[in-house]
Amino acid sequence: MKFEYDYLVVGAGIFGSVFAYEAKKRGKKVLVIDKRDHIGGNMYTKNMDGIHVHYYGAHIFHTSNKEIWDYINQFAEFNNYINSPIANYKGKLYNLPFNMNTFYQLWGTKTPKEAMDKIEEDRKNHFVENPKNLEEQAINLVGLEIYEKLIKGYTAKQWGKDPKDLPAFIIKRLPLRFTYNNNYFNDRYQGIPIGGYTQIFEKMLEGIEVRLNTDFFENREKFEHIAEKILYTGAIDEFFNFEFGHLEYRSLAFDHQVLDVENFQGNAVINYTDLETPYTRIIEHKHFDDAKSKHTVITYEYPKKYEIGSEKYYPVNDDKNNEIYKRYKEKAAKESKYLFGGRLAEYKYYDMHAVIISALAMVKNEFRDKE
Ligand SMILES: Cc1cc2nc3c(=O)[nH]c(=O)nc-3n(C[C@H](O)[C@H](O)[C@H](O)COP(=O)(O)OP(=O)(O)OC[C@H]3O[C@@H](n4cnc5c(N)ncnc54)[C@H](O)[C@@H]3O)c2cc1C
Repeated sequence: MKFEYDYLVVGAGIFGSVFAYEAKKRGKKVLVIDKRDHIGGNMYTKNMDGIHVHYYGAHIFHTSNKEIWDYINQFAEFNNYINSPIANYKGKLYNLPFNMNTFYQLWGTKTPKEAMDKIEEDRKNHFVENPKNLEEQAINLVGLEIYEKLIKGYTAKQWGKDPKDLPAFIIKRLPLRFTYNNNYFNDRYQGIPIGGYTQIFEKMLEGIEVRLNTDFFENREKFEHIAEKILYTGAIDEFFNFEFGHLEYRSLAFDHQVLDVENFQGNAVINYTDLETPYTRIIEHKHFDDAKSKHTVITYEYPKKYEIGSEKYYPVNDDKNNEIYKRYKEKAAKESKYLFGGRLAEYKYYDMHAVIISALAMVKNEFRDKE
């Protein structure tokens, strides 16, 4: 049977776009579809009067892998943005991640020894043998005060649950840094593409047919007949018609607002760590790439209960969901026409650089003996 396309790629996010770009480079005829009205998946940035708005939440590219850094830099020039979020707890500001600046703001400690002694004393006073939940685990790691001011409310909002009702394993470690260093990530390379992320996808998909507002499931049969192979980057449970049940997620709501002020908060990311403020963060997008504009765009990020049909953001990788996913994965392995990849098809939280690594590994495997 002769197919119109060698590959159909379902999803124009980073996984699908890397694969489509590499397949085209190898002379393959590719069709990309996405049910949204734009390319880029969750990395999409919308140009609002010269400010590149991270439409699905703040995205900071970071990696220690030089190959991946060079790979992404083919498609855009990156700036030297360093992620240095600030926490606002009941009107007081603290630097993140937890470092000597944070400890000074909490207790006025000035030397690593003073800060270590303070934390050690707090941990010792509240230490719980065999922590049974996230709260006990976090207090064991950083003491009660850091937990109460900077972790408790934020975590409760993020998961929609009291940390006492969350499993201890969610927090394995909470790094404490005894230097005055507000750089959130430890990676060697970090930055934001000057001009936003969407241009990366425009370049990757140049010369490739892309159909937006096109849901694979609305025409599944037709799509199965137009391409020899299909890369599917959508939700795995949906692919199998929820045969083994729905996989759970935590959702988010983004409220983007244009404000008639030049500089609203002086930093790209401010976390609200108390329980009473309903949002977890305010993002001010112009600070990601120093956009020059008389106004600003900010985004309130609200954690949201996931309901069937709402946007899927964070997978809930507990035993129950992992077990369901395992069954889908086993079934997917038997689909010889299909490839599956990306955060939704693999039901896992994936950073951007890790998605690129995974997509390139699939490319290598898929084209090894066919080039
Ligand atoms: C709030 C938030 C902040 C983040 N911040 C960072 C960060 O700072 N740094 C970092 O490295 N990573 C970050 N990430 C992770 C990053 O977003 C992901 O690594 C990346 O977007 C995953 O790419 P993907 O291609 O797997 O999935 P997606 O980007 O979700 O792409 C999948 C695409 O498939 C489409 N699709 C699904 N089903 C169908 C269908 N039936 N038919 C047609 N199309 C379909 C979707 O519309 C979507 O466009 C963040 C994630 C979130 C949620």
